[in-house]
Amino acid sequence: MADASPPPAALPWLGRCRCGDLRFRIVVPPIVTAVCHCIGCQRMSSSAFSLTIMVPTDGVEIGQGELVQGGMRADDLRHQFCDHCKTWVLTRVEAFGLTNVRATLLDDARWFVPYLETFASTRLPWASTPAVERCDEFPAPDSYPAMMAAYVTWARARGWPAGEPSSALSPSEP
Ligand SMILES: [Zn+2]
Ligand SMILES: [Zn+2]
Repeated sequence: MADASPPPAALPWLGRCRCGDLRFRIVVPPIVTAVCHCIGCQRMSSSAFSLTIMVPTDGVEIGQGELVQGGMRADDLRHQFCDHCKTWVLTRVEAFGLTNVRATLLDDARWFVPYLETFASTRLPWASTPAVERCDEFPAPDSYPAMMAAYVTWARARGWPAGEPSSALSPSEP
């Protein structure tokens, strides 16, 4: 789908919370970009859906400020917020060593386009996005390698950095 999104600047990408106490850098290409329409994301974002830049956890550097846990306060899915302004900054998916950064916290998020749309089953009826792949809930785990490969092709065609840290989620990748 054609859109007016410009390509991103070179890595690293800088971001911050609403108050600016919390600052971070994304230093590696995304594994995938996504939008999630699940009820949990609707509640935590106080909006229609959440926006995700998924990266390996060591690809996000916290430069300043304090992250505190919020949301569901689960051990396997750790929702992290700015301690001062309570902005939802990122979610750590501990089992996979992945971190989902909220895209519109970047200093420049104009390039962001979701590749994957999850929990389309609970989307608000008007909330359409240009995502290429759509799932009623989360994608089946055995579909991840093919999806990540398709994402890399798509992202490179947009002029995005993509694909270098391919070991992140790919113990089962051929
Ligand atoms: Zn969600
Ligand atoms: Zn803050």
